[in-house]
Amino acid sequence: MSKNRFSILLKFFKKVAYIEPFNTNRDSGRDSVKNKSTFDYFSEYLEEEEIEDSNTLTSPISGGVITSKYGMRYHPIHKVMRMHRGVDLRAAEGTPILAPENGKVINIKPNNGSAGNTLYFSGSEGRVWIFMHLSSFSVKKEQVIKQGVEIAKSGKTGGVTGPHLHMELKINGSHVDPLSVISIPIRQNTPKKPNKPSPTDGSRLLT
Ligand SMILES: [Zn+2]
Repeated sequence: MSKNRFSILLKFFKKVAYIEPFNTNRDSGRDSVKNKSTFDYFSEYLEEEEIEDSNTLTSPISGGVITSKYGMRYHPIHKVMRMHRGVDLRAAEGTPILAPENGKVINIKPNNGSAGNTLYFSGSEGRVWIFMHLSSFSVKKEQVIKQGVEIAKSGKTGGVTGPHLHMELKINGSHVDPLSVISIPIRQNTPKKPNKPSPTDGSRLLT
């Protein structure tokens, strides 16, 4: 069970400890609650408190398509095999980047070398998301953000050959494949004109 779910359960049991729902003998008006199970009470509690399962992570790009996966690959600029520590998502310049979960903007680094404009976003359970090559930031450092809210716009700043979003995920300080926790459709890259890549086509030659 995650820390988050545990804290929800804990809050629930602290609450029911005071509402004495299981003793229905003293007040006939409470007969209606006699047959309720703990599960019923818990379901009602979740509805009352409007608690959602915040462990469902969402793609930072609506309808996102992965164009380069996490792992070793031939680097399109440096022409050597290198570890690609994130995933690349197809994104025309100015595409809204959405928070993948509830969290907080922990750092903003404009013109951060080859990473370009970079945003660091902290979520639950030790997760830190890093978004690179952004064209602009839509939020400020320390801002608390709800899942699905725009935090930046994608671009082609830093060392890239075309606009796209490079997204990394660290859990407790170590890089992991973002696709291990977030589901994004993976589509085969099929450029329309393979011999003449458009400079604005974010689907190829990425870093
Ligand atoms: Zn990349």
